[in-house]
Amino acid sequence: ATQPYDDANIFAKILRGEIPAKTVYEDDHALAFHDINPQAPQHILVIPRGRYVSWDDFSAHASDAEIAGFVRAVGHVARAAGLVEPGYRLLANTGGDAHQEVPHLHVHIFAGQPLGPMLA
Ligand code: 5GP
Repeated sequence: ATQPYDDANIFAKILRGEIPAKTVYEDDHALAFHDINPQAPQHILVIPRGRYVSWDDFSAHASDAEIAGFVRAVGHVARAAGLVEPGYRLLANTGGDAHQEVPHLHVHIFAGQPLGPMLA
């Protein structure tokens, strides 16, 4: 079973405007902002506005409109940042073995240099 959503998580606070973030894009379904501790020259996080703990929770419980809006937002952010031609990597850590730290779904966009076969 999915853990209950914690409204005190840091990305919920960013969505509510209670703590600042360097926003790069927002729409009805998604918010994108720069990671506070970048692991690549460009490191952007994209989150859905809905209260979903993880990729697992989102893929199981979000509406088709939420899923489509979020997926399109991730693609839009990368395209608008000029990352399509050089290339970029998406990552969604899910659960403990993947070291998911923030319990609100987020997709990482990494870009800006050759990334190697995997990120550590
Ligand atoms: P996870 O390990 O959960 O996949 O990644 C969480 C990410 O959130 C990390 O890359 C971390 O640097 C980032 N992060 C944590 N707290 C904040 C914050 O307050 N603001 C921003 N912009 N990023 C954060």
